[in-house]
Amino acid sequence: MPTSKISLYDVLIIGAGINGCCSAYTLAQSGLKVALIDQDGIASGGSGAAGAFISPKISKVGELKEIMGEAHSEALKFYTAHFPKFTLVKPLLHIANNPKEGEKVESFKYETHLKHSNIPHKIQTFLSDEALSSSSIYFDIGAVVDAQGVCTAMAEGIDFYPIKVEKLIHNDHVWQVDELRAKHLVLSIGAYPKLLPIDYVGLRGIWGHRIDIETSTHIPCILHHHVSISPTNQEGIVAIGATHDVHYSPFSGEPYEIEQGRAILLEKASKTLLLNSINVVKDYTGLRSGSNDYLPMLGNLVDAAATLEKYPHIRHGQWVDPNEYIYYPNLTMINGSGGYGFVLAPYLAKKLKEYLVDHIPLNPILSPSRFFPRWAKKH
Ligand SMILES: Cc1cc2nc3c(=O)[nH]c(=O)nc-3n(C[C@H](O)[C@H](O)[C@H](O)COP(=O)(O)OP(=O)(O)OC[C@H]3O[C@@H](n4cnc5c(N)ncnc54)[C@H](O)[C@@H]3O)c2cc1C
Repeated sequence: MPTSKISLYDVLIIGAGINGCCSAYTLAQSGLKVALIDQDGIASGGSGAAGAFISPKISKVGELKEIMGEAHSEALKFYTAHFPKFTLVKPLLHIANNPKEGEKVESFKYETHLKHSNIPHKIQTFLSDEALSSSSIYFDIGAVVDAQGVCTAMAEGIDFYPIKVEKLIHNDHVWQVDELRAKHLVLSIGAYPKLLPIDYVGLRGIWGHRIDIETSTHIPCILHHHVSISPTNQEGIVAIGATHDVHYSPFSGEPYEIEQGRAILLEKASKTLLLNSINVVKDYTGLRSGSNDYLPMLGNLVDAAATLEKYPHIRHGQWVDPNEYIYYPNLTMINGSGGYGFVLAPYLAKKLKEYLVDHIPLNPILSPSRFFPRWAKKH
């Protein structure tokens, strides 16, 4: 950790998950002086728990599909080009886990530009009857990244500060965290307490559990069905994940039932294929931070009190151009990636860089302010 008293940066990034690390990496690559801050360490939040599959989101046409599609292509290119050591590229078989999902898979198959083909015979032989009889799509290319490894590699050479930020201070056009100062602040704190009065930002924490197992069954491709199953890696490990639990929160103080989570994961995996001689070697748990409309968030944050004071009629449904809202100065939030943080991070970091360095406006569709008018009507 650097020792000088006041340290000046171009950007302070709070939160060293995949969003903070990827932003730090991308901004530093374009010449900005970046400080990365985290209360616990690199990838200590949801990111450290992730299976980190770089998989396309099977969704119907619309904004979400467009953005996820662009992000997915960006991510495949980004990880393979810059972090090949932490990226395992293998074919990917996505199997629908219910009839509605099956419909999505069929229409996705029809519309996608991603290369896909028939499931090779070798893979068909080890799939369960349920998996074989469900709609599926076999992509020629998928990827899994080593979550901890890639975040750590991204943060290499970036000044890292282990600080728990309690309060955000902005004085004389400068953001301050302890002795650190910068014009720009990036808030990438996932599902943790928000640090600002921004209740309108519609986020929820979704608890997830994944496991690494040893098994005598060799898995040659990525499998997504009731759970995701990684290919067997060089160390002979297969990752299985993840559970989606909207009820459990680590902030509640309640203990988490690890054995129960393991049993759920193994039972779900068994619906796809038979895994022989299983030995669970490691558990990973964490919170994803999902937005209420499933789109990620990349944008400035509305100062709700100041905006409502200026435009009190927003409370009664008066429409005000979002450009007229009052925003916290030079503060950008990245959040709400749900179960696709590793897919979205390179795309979001690129957009952040274009905004901060090249002055290209951010996409208003991703702005956290999209939740503001609806919230304001109720307050
Ligand atoms: C079990 C599981 C499996 C997953 N699998 C996949 C997958 O296969 N593919 C995929 O793309 N995504 C996956 N995800 C989702 C992905 O992990 C998340 O979308 C991603 O981690 C979000 O990253 P983040 O940087 O926004 O948040 P986080 O990783 O949660 O990082 C936030 C960081 O902010 C820090 N912080 C918070 N508050 C403060 C404060 N006040 N002061 C200092 N530091 C603070 C925290 O310590 C934390 O390190 C999975 C998630 C889970 C939990």
